[in-house]
Amino acid sequence: MADKIKGKGVIAGIAVGSILLAGQNLDGYLVNYKPGKLDTEKKKAADALVKVADALRKSIDDFNEKGLKEQAGILEAHRMMVEDPAMSGLIEEKIDASKSAPKAVLDAYETQAQVFEAMEDEYFRGRAVDMRDVGKRIAKYLLGIKEPEIAGKVIVAGKEIEPSVIAGLPTDKIAGVILGAGSTTAHAVIIAKTRAIPTVVGVGSGIDQMADGDPAILDGETGEILIRPSEAERKSYDKKIKKQEELKAHYAELKTLPAKTTDGVEVDLVANIGSPADVDAANDFGAQGVGLFRSEFVFMGKTDVPKEEDQFKEYKAAVEKCNGNLCVIRTMDIGGDKPLPYIQVDEEENPFLGYRAIRISLKRKDLFLPQLKAILRAGVYGKAAIMFPMVINVQEFLAAKEMVEEAKMELVHEGKDYADNVQVGIMVETPAAAVMAPILAKYVDFFSIGTNDLVQYTLAVDRGNAQISYLYNHFNPAVLRLIKRTIESANKEGKWAGMCGEMASDPNAAVLLMAMGIKELSMSAPSIPRVKERIRNITSAKAKEILDTVMEMEDGDKIKEYLSTLTPKN
Ligand code: PEP
Ligand code: MG
Repeated sequence: MADKIKGKGVIAGIAVGSILLAGQNLDGYLVNYKPGKLDTEKKKAADALVKVADALRKSIDDFNEKGLKEQAGILEAHRMMVEDPAMSGLIEEKIDASKSAPKAVLDAYETQAQVFEAMEDEYFRGRAVDMRDVGKRIAKYLLGIKEPEIAGKVIVAGKEIEPSVIAGLPTDKIAGVILGAGSTTAHAVIIAKTRAIPTVVGVGSGIDQMADGDPAILDGETGEILIRPSEAERKSYDKKIKKQEELKAHYAELKTLPAKTTDGVEVDLVANIGSPADVDAANDFGAQGVGLFRSEFVFMGKTDVPKEEDQFKEYKAAVEKCNGNLCVIRTMDIGGDKPLPYIQVDEEENPFLGYRAIRISLKRKDLFLPQLKAILRAGVYGKAAIMFPMVINVQEFLAAKEMVEEAKMELVHEGKDYADNVQVGIMVETPAAAVMAPILAKYVDFFSIGTNDLVQYTLAVDRGNAQISYLYNHFNPAVLRLIKRTIESANKEGKWAGMCGEMASDPNAAVLLMAMGIKELSMSAPSIPRVKERIRNITSAKAKEILDTVMEMEDGDKIKEYLSTLTPKN
C-alpha cells in the first residue's frame, strides 16, 4: 500500500514519475568551508558571480536553441539577479560581517528575499524564492557542489521549489509538481501552468514522507498523491491516464481550428502572459495573440526601474512572438498591495483601494513615459496595444492618452521609430468604469474586462480571502449586468470588448459572454482548448437562449449550477 498524501489540486492531470526533491540544505557544507583572507573571499565571490552568470548565459542559449523559452526566460531573470550591481555591493558588506564568501552570498540574497517576502501581494512574495535560489546557486559554485544527474520522468517536490530546479529540467522530463506551500502563484506553479504540468500544492509536511527516487502518482484534479504505490494502485489510474492522453490528442487537433460556433460566430482566444517567453507556450495551445501582458512582471526582481531600452526589448520580443496577432500590453499595475523596492508608496490602510496602477502612472511621469515609449517602439515589430489598469473615469483615460501623445513627441525628437497605430484601451475592472462604459466607449479603442478585480470591487469581496470565497462568484447577477453593459456599450460605439480576468477561462462563462457580444477572451494558455471546444459545440442561438434564461435568474449560485448542468461531459 502506498503512503497517501492529500493537497490541493491546482493543475489537472495524472502524473506518474519518480520523486525529485528540490531544495538542498547547505549547512553541512558551510561548516566545512575554510575561508581565506577578507580580500580573497571578496575576490572569490566576485569571480563566482562572473562564472555563474556565464553558466546561466550558456544554459539560456541551450534552452533557447531547444525552443524551451520559458525556462530560458526564468534563467534570464536569474542572470539579471546575479549581475545586479547592488547585489555585489551587498555581498561585500556581508563578507565583512561573516568572513566567508558562500555564507555572505546566501545572506545577501536572503536579505533581498525578505524584501520581497514582506510584500502583501502573493505573486511578489513568490519572487523571494527566486532570490534565494540565485543565492544558493552561487553559494554552491563557491562550495564546489555539483548538480545530480536525472534519469526518467520526475515529479518535482519541495516545501518551496526553487524555480531553477524546474527551469533546469527539460519540460518533457517533468511529469508533475508537488509544492508544500499553498501558493498558486509561486514561480514553479506559474511555469507548470503555462505547460499544463499536473500540480498539487499545500501538502505541507507531507513532503517529509517522500525520498528522492520514490515512485509516485499524482492527481492534479483531486489533489491526491500516492507515494510508492502498489502495482494494483498504479493500475487503478490506467483508465484516467488513457482518457487524459485521448483528451490531449483531441485538444492538439483543435490547435489550429477557430473558436467558432456551428453557425459561424467567432471569438478570438488569446493568452495572459507575464513575460515574452510565455508567448511560446501560448502559441503551442493555439493562442491567437496576447490579451494581457502583465507588464509589472518586467519591473520585478530588479533593484531599480527598468530603463526604456530594457523594457523595449521585452515588449518587442513579446510582440514579435505574436506573429502579427495583437499583443495587448497593460501598463504597470504596481503599488499598494504590489510595492516595489524602488517605488515609494506610503503604508496604506486599504492598499486595494489605494495608490496603485494608473494612479501611480499619472503621478509618476518619470516611470510612465519610458514605459509608453517602449511599447510604442515595440509596436513597429508587429501589432501592439496599450491598456491602462484600474481606470475609474474619463479624465484618467484622457490624461493617460495625452501621455501617449507626449511619448510619441519625445520619440520623434529622439529620432526613434514607433508605431503610430497602436490601439489604446482600458481594463474595465472597477464598477465605476463598467457603469460609465457607455461614455468611456466613445473615447477608448477597446475594453478588456478584468473580472478578478471587478468581482471583488462589485461585491466587496476580497479576491484572496478564503473565508468569504463562497461569495466570490463571477456569475453573480450584479457582476453579469456590469459585464453585459460593458460589452454592449463597446459594440454600440463600434469598439471591441474582450475579457482578461479568470472568468474568461470558464467554458460556461464563455457561452454567456459570446452571446453578450464579446470579441476576445484572454486566459492562461492551457485553458484555451477547453473553452474552444465549448464554443465549437454550440450555436449562437442556443447561447443566446442560455443567456436570456440566466439574465432572468436572481441567484449567482443557482446560475452556476444551472450552467454546469448544460456542460457536455467528456
Ligand atoms: C483582473 O483584475 O481581472 C486582471 C486581469 O488583472 P489582475 O489579475 O492582474 O489584477
Ligand atoms: Mg486587476
